[in-house]
Amino acid sequence: MDETRRRDYLAAMGVSIWTLRPGMEPLIAASPIEEAASVVPERSVRPESPPQDPPPSVEVPSESAIIEPAAPAKTTASDSQTMDWDALEAAVVACRACGLCDTRTQTVFGVGNRQARLLVIGEAPGADEDRLGEPFVGRAGQLLNRMLEAIGCPRESVYIANVLKCRPPGNRDPRQEESQRCQGFLLGQLRLIRPELILAVGRIAAQHLLQTDESVGRLRGRWLEFGPERIPVRVTYHPAYLLRSPEQKAKVWGDLTIVRRRLDASGTG
Ligand code: SF4
Repeated sequence: MDETRRRDYLAAMGVSIWTLRPGMEPLIAASPIEEAASVVPERSVRPESPPQDPPPSVEVPSESAIIEPAAPAKTTASDSQTMDWDALEAAVVACRACGLCDTRTQTVFGVGNRQARLLVIGEAPGADEDRLGEPFVGRAGQLLNRMLEAIGCPRESVYIANVLKCRPPGNRDPRQEESQRCQGFLLGQLRLIRPELILAVGRIAAQHLLQTDESVGRLRGRWLEFGPERIPVRVTYHPAYLLRSPEQKAKVWGDLTIVRRRLDASGTG
């Protein structure tokens, strides 16, 4: 991505750039543009204890942790680990394994490049997603798109999925049994995509994926790993939270640049 375009994307994200002296390592600092105070995110996301993170541009590889996924729950997706894409998608559409099937407009399977190097995992569909059948399509989704564009990973180049495939009514948090019943589908998507990296956005996605109660603030700033393949996981704040707390955008930009660097270091584009 050329510099002018990158700066345009950062400006669109509300992240401003400091000009550095020649020879200095680029550090991303931000003085975020204020979002309108009346912004209402499409999903209700709890505040994510922001202030206790290391600087966003600092990696702490020594703190890497191996966290195994939860044992697959007994769900209608219990045999999803042998399904191809079509079968998996059909199983999601037909699923009635938890009560969310009674209140959904439609299921929200996931979208994007099925050979993606980067898998973005969010929480659950909101009202817009439930209506349109695609994850991250409201204001938070637009911000996520700009964030991904800013690191040269446009939406169509990654795969985006949620922990839950159906909307919790009233945008409440997913219940544990709902996440457990649904997780076979996400594991099926992971098996088919085989991503190099996972970006978990928001508390629910991170806690479910990593089977932990730690806050996003504590999970950020280090590489974690998922599953027997030890897929590297980076945790960052949910874009809906950023709409309410734009001062956190600099941290998210730091998380994303680290993801970009790891993709660059590991391979082909
Ligand atoms: S949320 Fe998941 S487990 Fe529950 S009905 Fe929807 S697809 Fe099935």
